[in-house]
Amino acid sequence: FKTPAVENEPMRSYSPGSAERNALEAALVQMEQELPFEVPIIVNGKPVKTGKVAKQPIPQDHARHLCTYHEADPATVSAAIEGALAAKSSWESMPWPDRAAIFLKAADLVSGKYRYKLMAATMLGQGKNAWQAEIDAAAELADFFRFGVKFVEDLYAQQPVKNSKGAWNRVEYRALEGFVLAVSPFNFTAIGGNLPGAPALVGNVVVWKPSPAATYSNYLVYQILQEAGVPPGVIQFVPGPPPEVVAQAIEHPLFAALHFTGSTFIFKKLWKDIASNIDNYRSYPRIVGETGGKNFHVVHESAEVNNAVFQTVRGAFEYQGQKCSALSRLYVSSSVWNNGFKDKLLQEVAKIKVGPCQDFTNFMGPVIGRPAFDKITGYIQKAKDAGAEVLVGGSGDDSKGYFIQPTVLLSKDPKMVTFVEEIFGPVLSVYVFEDKDYEQTLELIDATTQYGLTGAIFASDRSALVLGTNKLRNAAGNVYYNEKCTGAVVGQQPFGGGRASGTNDKAGSISIFYRFVSARSIKENF
Ligand code: GLU
Repeated sequence: FKTPAVENEPMRSYSPGSAERNALEAALVQMEQELPFEVPIIVNGKPVKTGKVAKQPIPQDHARHLCTYHEADPATVSAAIEGALAAKSSWESMPWPDRAAIFLKAADLVSGKYRYKLMAATMLGQGKNAWQAEIDAAAELADFFRFGVKFVEDLYAQQPVKNSKGAWNRVEYRALEGFVLAVSPFNFTAIGGNLPGAPALVGNVVVWKPSPAATYSNYLVYQILQEAGVPPGVIQFVPGPPPEVVAQAIEHPLFAALHFTGSTFIFKKLWKDIASNIDNYRSYPRIVGETGGKNFHVVHESAEVNNAVFQTVRGAFEYQGQKCSALSRLYVSSSVWNNGFKDKLLQEVAKIKVGPCQDFTNFMGPVIGRPAFDKITGYIQKAKDAGAEVLVGGSGDDSKGYFIQPTVLLSKDPKMVTFVEEIFGPVLSVYVFEDKDYEQTLELIDATTQYGLTGAIFASDRSALVLGTNKLRNAAGNVYYNEKCTGAVVGQQPFGGGRASGTNDKAGSISIFYRFVSARSIKENF
């Protein structure tokens, strides 16, 4: 048999008066009437309430919060791990078509029955506008599940090409021995689904610690997986204080893998913690991580100006720059900069509206919380102190929510701190280079940061694209020609980077699934 053909989930327009616009607005109104929600821990399919609660704020509105959630204590984390291990053998021995069907059904629940509810939770809780929520919580999440089934089917079909006479060689792709720990970020509901979902699809059991700032949308994802038929215990939903939950899971002898998206700092720390426990484990753990970025656009003198500006504005300021892939450093040739790019960029940024998600004309919403607000405004100040010119924006307003104006900084010092360190906010640093220095600028881009996630080259001259691609060989795991450096699509642009940006195992492709299986070769003689 073959699983059904898959397509990327079509995007809806949300134009005024459209059916989807009305449905999403109704979902937002209903959610606002019903909040705050109470979110339990889920162990073996059952809610657990420890009574130790924390709040998920609404970053655009200090007056309310989206949910309170129960935080796991050590006994609950232990119960989650042991329950997952107990669920393992029947899950991994479930016939593949049944496991596949569960995830295909989950994808349909995401893109159908729960679409607007998931989007509303992502908008209110994580500060996305409707379009960003559609890309993430509706389309990418469904794509991860649907395409995941296809990739795993292809993986299982990978078999030895040669058999000696009278023998049959085959490879069995077993789930890992033990359990997988998934630690997911706030910025994509879809990644919340993919971090536990991908390992589970190949038969693993997973302890999932969602980001505190995405608790409610991630809880809905958990409920969808449960409704689709993921058996109790296979994915344990364990919100809690991050260091404690994660440390406890990592100390367990049957800790088999970490599937992580988050900061470089935390990932490195976990890597060290895993190393220090290495003698206690039954197997060498797999470590899969997607971490920070300091992503670039480089605009060659042959670039088409209007497109380069349009893509730059979207790459830098969509979702307030809070994508790992977001554009944060721009290198523009002086002839392009002086012949329309600068004026057009400033005009376009000045048009950006910032405000709450219920107003669909707002292009930007709030940043995720107080630490983010302080960090981002702090970087703007550091750049000013270093002599940068603020071309537009430069300020924030935290009176009602955590709003920061889209900010463009111009500096003659390409090593200024905002070209080097990840800010994770709506701040774009610009460096203008002489046309003759294109090659030198590529070398500068490569040498400026520790990261290597995404980048884009804007040129109509093919040799500039070729030179850029060669010179920036390790500076980005995802490179775009004449298009912004964000927005990788599952099944189209496998996503991930190297250097300090991650293990480059490529979400949204077959590659990631190899990390969560342990192959066994079987030879049989006839
Ligand atoms: N895959 C997303 C993109 O290409 C970014 C994911 C992330 O922020 O971690 O824009």
